[in-house]
Amino acid sequence: MNADATQKIRLIMYLRQQGIHSTDVLSAIERTPRESFIPAMFHDQAYEDLALPIGRGQTISQPLVVAHMTQSLELDPMHKVLEIGTGCGYQAAILSKLCRRVYTIERHRPLFENANATLDSLRIRNITTLLGDGMQGWTAQAPFDRIIVTAAARQEAPFALTSQLKVGGFLVIPIGEAGDQWLYKYTKQPNGQCTRVKLFEVRFVPLLPDIAKDQEAQIQQDPLLEAVG
Ligand code: SAH
Repeated sequence: MNADATQKIRLIMYLRQQGIHSTDVLSAIERTPRESFIPAMFHDQAYEDLALPIGRGQTISQPLVVAHMTQSLELDPMHKVLEIGTGCGYQAAILSKLCRRVYTIERHRPLFENANATLDSLRIRNITTLLGDGMQGWTAQAPFDRIIVTAAARQEAPFALTSQLKVGGFLVIPIGEAGDQWLYKYTKQPNGQCTRVKLFEVRFVPLLPDIAKDQEAQIQQDPLLEAVG
């Protein structure tokens, strides 16, 4: 067995110990090569429970957070899911193994392009990507069975997103400033209103409006993006 396979098994065992009981979620993580989504310089850490930089000041979430968020969505193979914050495409790839189709939106063009290339190289065909402002949702494809936001809102889930959720559907989203940020799970009630419960503390980059301008990333020529392979 190679080093990657051993580290992967160790990670799966750790996720189980930490409360990931869904065998579907564990199997999706086991079948997704996390190293393909991160810069080569971090490949040796691909199966550690760490968030890692993916360029443009953004990060791929740590596997335990990806696993918890995915598990809390309670996915069904027929579900149509919207993700806000494609990043490197890893979370979308996990979701794609557990539902019918994933729609995912990213506001940084270089990340959007990299994610497309990675998902294409892995021959994942049930993900549709969009360069845009995910705070607006994806009107043309709404409504969604599930919505997952992988960047932190300030106080509430954006109204555009809750309004694009089906009745009975769940939306998970981190809310709050760094240091006091929690994951919330919203449920759309038959009267059209959402109720929410607080799940656990997290640390995500902020949810920001509009497509990112080139100069927004601190480093113009981002060396990490060239290293992604
Ligand atoms: N799910 C990602 C995590 C990426 S980090 C993964 O598996 O890698 C969060 C991402 O959300 C960043 O790439 C950031 O650019 C993006 N983001 C922040 N605000 C956004 C918005 N309004 N619309 C779309 N993407 C957004």
